Amino acid sequence: MGLIVQKFGGSSVRDAGRIMNVAKTVTDTYAAGNSVMVVVSAQGDTTDELIEKAHEINPKASKREMDVLLSTGEQISIALLAMAIEKLGYPVKSLTGWQAGFVTDSTHGNSRIRHINKERLTNELDKGNIVIVAGFQGVNRYDDITTLGRGGSDTSAVALAAVCHANLCQIYTDVDGIYTADPRLVKSARKLDEISYDEMLELASLGAQVLHNRSVEMAKKYNVPLEVLSSLEKKPGTVVKEVTDVEKLLIKGVAKDNRVARLSIIGVQDVPGIAFKIFSALAARKINVDIILQSIGRDDTKDIAFTVPLDDKEEALEVLDGLHKVLKAHEILSDDNVTKVSIVGAGMATNPGVAAKMFEALADANINIQMISTSEIKISVLIEKKDADRAVAAIHEAFAV
Ligand code: ADP
Ligand code: ASP
Ligand code: MG
Repeated sequence: MGLIVQKFGGSSVRDAGRIMNVAKTVTDTYAAGNSVMVVVSAQGDTTDELIEKAHEINPKASKREMDVLLSTGEQISIALLAMAIEKLGYPVKSLTGWQAGFVTDSTHGNSRIRHINKERLTNELDKGNIVIVAGFQGVNRYDDITTLGRGGSDTSAVALAAVCHANLCQIYTDVDGIYTADPRLVKSARKLDEISYDEMLELASLGAQVLHNRSVEMAKKYNVPLEVLSSLEKKPGTVVKEVTDVEKLLIKGVAKDNRVARLSIIGVQDVPGIAFKIFSALAARKINVDIILQSIGRDDTKDIAFTVPLDDKEEALEVLDGLHKVLKAHEILSDDNVTKVSIVGAGMATNPGVAAKMFEALADANINIQMISTSEIKISVLIEKKDADRAVAAIHEAFAV
């Protein structure tokens, strides 16, 4: 018994039936003697639909107004879930991100939580209420509504658990745990009983959307006990924790990320300081650059290619346009038709055969590699989008994880 934070994603609150199902899980936990805080996402595909509505009117709408719009999805869910819990006869209060005290920075569309004023939350808990909080949203210091980035409700839940020193943070979703690859894509994917914060952070950052990467970062920082489990079936899920000793697998998982774009600067001057100018200008706009490739210079020019998140592509192109006098490049190209496929595992650094085995699996499947990047804990390749699902399956098969 203690304080439990439970988070339910979009598919888990998709319709009235699913909401009643969530209400049952929540009230069972409360009836067992726990204090319960619940975080919910927008129903089903609501967030995508809201984005579409905005694009119909203005594809270049400001990020501030996008946040005002997108935050409404979660507000619908908190009210409906609270009504369902009222119907079951339990005391409940729904709170928006602002009411729950979530204060963020001002990076609209991708804000970071700065702090949570937990007075209102603890007041409601002290009164014996089940507290339902809108995920994915907060306000900045000017009281403007902000959102935390796609999938950000996970981070709202972990932040609540950290600030209120919850005994457990449960992320309920539409799969029954974390697998060695997306179980909807790879039938032979295996469910993990446990995974370390570091490995999960890599998987999440590389596209395994089952957890928002910042939620894992925060869980690690504040040592929040985290569990991913099914909202539909009652069975144990996957525990995310500091170290795991159950299995020392070399490879923990395979992930893909479709939401990337490759930018290429062709024929840029081959002089010192060029890379610095490009990447500092992108950093100033908070654009994350991932895999970078630079060709060997010839005729005093070279080519530089790199990947950015798809959502930042247009802004990155603007930045490069703004630099055209400095770069004197022949051409700037962009390509969205790419996917990043990665393998993750803590044992990788000391095992030289891993990269070769991954590349062999891709070669056997006749899949061309455009870019490669490696680190101690992962290897990523950029390939054509149409090959992505085959690549994940082939790599998963090769390592039989
Ligand atoms: P929610 O709406 O509950 O937040 P998401 O769609 O964000 O759910 O995340 C759950 C989905 O993540 C699953 O349906 C699954 O397809 C996908 N997924 C990707 N990689 C993995 C993985 N390694 N393990 C489990 N699920 C994964
Ligand atoms: N509703 C938001 C999204 O679709 C946040 C979330 O689901 O976590 O990205
Ligand atoms: Mg999610």
